[in-house]
Amino acid sequence: VKKIAVLTSGGDSQGMNAAVRAVVRSGLYHGLEVFAVQRGYAGLINDDIREMDLRSVGDIIQRGGTILQTARCKEFLTPEGQQLGAENLRKRGIDGLVVIGGDGSYQGANKLNKLGIKTMGLPGTIDNDIPFTDFTIGFDTAVSIVVDAINKIRDTMSSHERSSVVEVMGRHCGDIALYSGLASGAETILVPEVPYDLDEIANRMSENFKMGKRHSIIIVAEGVGKGEDIAAEITKRNGIEPRVTVLGHIQRGGTPTHNDRILASNLGDFAVRKLLEGVSGKACGIIKGELTVTDIDLVVNSKKQFNMELYELAKRLSQ
Ligand code: ATP
Repeated sequence: VKKIAVLTSGGDSQGMNAAVRAVVRSGLYHGLEVFAVQRGYAGLINDDIREMDLRSVGDIIQRGGTILQTARCKEFLTPEGQQLGAENLRKRGIDGLVVIGGDGSYQGANKLNKLGIKTMGLPGTIDNDIPFTDFTIGFDTAVSIVVDAINKIRDTMSSHERSSVVEVMGRHCGDIALYSGLASGAETILVPEVPYDLDEIANRMSENFKMGKRHSIIIVAEGVGKGEDIAAEITKRNGIEPRVTVLGHIQRGGTPTHNDRILASNLGDFAVRKLLEGVSGKACGIIKGELTVTDIDLVVNSKKQFNMELYELAKRLSQ
């Protein structure tokens, strides 16, 4: 490869900018010409592609969101849209592409790879729902935001209310709930991957209060249901009225943590080096601290394994 491009797609996540910066700077370092596609696959179809230099990615490593913007693009779901996207790269002589995004974005990357564009995927999503990587870019920041919010909720809870339900992001993957729940000492963590029993939860709550426990925090991943509904079900069972906080989009904003910046820097550089070695059609990840590549085909057809050990640990420590 001589010319490569980078795009961000799907939901944005903190650290995408750090990944873009790493791809651009690593590419230039290795003597490549590097291009950026604006607004994900929409920009690929609309030919919104520009050449990058070292300065184009200055002052972005600390910024949330993505300077390349992102889009959900229906047209790219069609073979015609994909052909057009590949054509717009080819006419500039761009033969390598790094796609930063989630599962849907990987599907698109897979299609482009099959059309002859050497494509690499980087996991950019706060949900941590991509298999074959322990962590995705943005997850660490999202968890930090939730933990910080729960610290604040705890302060006011000790003074007034004794119980809180906190709804966090995660439609299919409970990792944000799991990691932030463990890190903030939540009493109960509800995730889509593990069945739960509201009778048992409500009982345990009232027992714990009788025994002198002063806080109770229940974290609910949005895939389980609405925080409001869970709170209402609890009140029905034990009369306790938890206050509900829905954290929403603040989980996707703000400056990335150093962990996300370092992960993004490592993965961005790694993807470029792999392209130079002639590798393509792979998703990059980090497994037990090692940078890895896995066939995108396999990644998009697999489901992320839930970390039951961590879940059990959180349970043991929350009594
Ligand atoms: P997040 O997990 O944060 O929502 P995502 O990457 O999964 O991110 P999607 O909206 O699912 O977000 O996908 C982003 C874009 O990828 C879509 O708008 C579409 O253009 C493209 N895409 C998704 N699925 C496919 C597919 N099967 N084939 C080709 N392109 C696809």
